[in-house]
Amino acid sequence: MENRVSRTGTDSWWREKLISLYESIDEQISEAGPRCEASGKCCRFKEFDHTLFLTEPEAELLLEPGLPPGPHDGTIGCPYQVGGLCTARERRPVACRTFFCDPSFEEKMVTMTEDSIGRLKAWHRESGRAWTYRPLAYFLGDQRAPQERSSLPVLHELT
Ligand code: SF4
Repeated sequence: MENRVSRTGTDSWWREKLISLYESIDEQISEAGPRCEASGKCCRFKEFDHTLFLTEPEAELLLEPGLPPGPHDGTIGCPYQVGGLCTARERRPVACRTFFCDPSFEEKMVTMTEDSIGRLKAWHRESGRAWTYRPLAYFLGDQRAPQERSSLPVLHELT
């Protein structure tokens, strides 16, 4: 199956699943209260040495409204960070919601991320959709012209 983000966004079935997952994560985060310095460093991937991985349905929802003025390739930073702030709060994927610099939150962060990935995998199986879990840069490549897509590096894929 060709890996490509739909230019028309995600479908209603996936939207409902993702929104319920995101709300559940947000509730758990609210209860756990990890410390966030709101530095925005985790969205500046190169500076922070960070790669944002997400699934294809998450990418479809995130990229649905299109990109802010670019260029963007997702290797320097996230295109949705504007003026140090996330402009995609409602659509941001699991990894953006569970990641915190707070060392005391690390164990919980791993558990929450694994649980979320488990739910995403189950929904992929249920819907018969191929599992595609790639860096944001991969999906941003799919927002460009087809001839540019082939030159994009695929860093690695988790299964
Ligand atoms: S979607 Fe928002 S929180 Fe996630 S990397 Fe981009 S700017 Fe940061």
